[in-house]
Amino acid sequence: IVTFQDVHKSFGDVEVLKGINLDIKPAEKVAVIGPSGSGKTTIIRMLMTLEKPTSGDIIVDGKNLWKMDKNGQLVDANEKHLREVRGDIGMVFQHFNLFPHMTILENCMTAPIHVKKENKQTAKQHSIQMLEKVGLGDKLDNYPSQLSGGQKQRVAMARALVMRPKVMLFDEVTSALDPELVGEVLEVIRDIAKEGEMAMILVTHEMDFALDVADKVLFLDEGVIAEQGTASEVIEHSSNERLQSFLKRFR
Ligand code: ATP
Repeated sequence: IVTFQDVHKSFGDVEVLKGINLDIKPAEKVAVIGPSGSGKTTIIRMLMTLEKPTSGDIIVDGKNLWKMDKNGQLVDANEKHLREVRGDIGMVFQHFNLFPHMTILENCMTAPIHVKKENKQTAKQHSIQMLEKVGLGDKLDNYPSQLSGGQKQRVAMARALVMRPKVMLFDEVTSALDPELVGEVLEVIRDIAKEGEMAMILVTHEMDFALDVADKVLFLDEGVIAEQGTASEVIEHSSNERLQSFLKRFR
């Protein structure tokens, strides 16, 4: 469902991603770990089409997001594909990015109505379903300011899920939360993961969670995928020294 082929990304003179190759299957759950500055968020932002690669191909559901010339150099965005792909991808951020002036039900209904052109009644029904799924069925008319951080993050998940994306991206969604609120958010992600059909890419520092949920773990280090494999291979049994010293900080 998601393929990166030799993707490079530079900001000015600094090459942040140095040739990323990735192949994520539908329904696959992939955790991305790695030190600060290794390029994890940049990968997520490129998939969200918020950032374009310096070179290389990014293919989502068979659509190449960028136009290349015959030498493989990027020339421009493929606007048609970008538009299509944005509807297939859901994202949850570290900071919840909810609309403060809308109730949580309205927060969830906005995109289905304005992007998917669903009628209001259908959008409302789906939104209530998703808010119930994340355990907030009794808070529909509350405003974000009335919720805890964990509850806000669960609203953000419901809001992404209601678009029925093929791929969900989670970028350090628990790192801005008080420790006692982390569990409830991870629990909801676990439930969504177990349901199956969506691919999920999770940037996380929660190693036990990655072991539990991820089919595959990528260790990103200085702009390359330095190690990849099953969660157990990467987190418990790798002999890569940089990976081991990274993991020591989290386990
Ligand atoms: P963290 O765990 O701290 O969030 P990360 O692995 O997600 O780190 P990125 O946010 O992808 O890392 O950043 C990788 C590098 O790219 C960093 O050195 C960052 O300063 C740089 N960078 C990211 N975005 C930009 C930008 N828009 N302009 C210039 N440099 C950038």
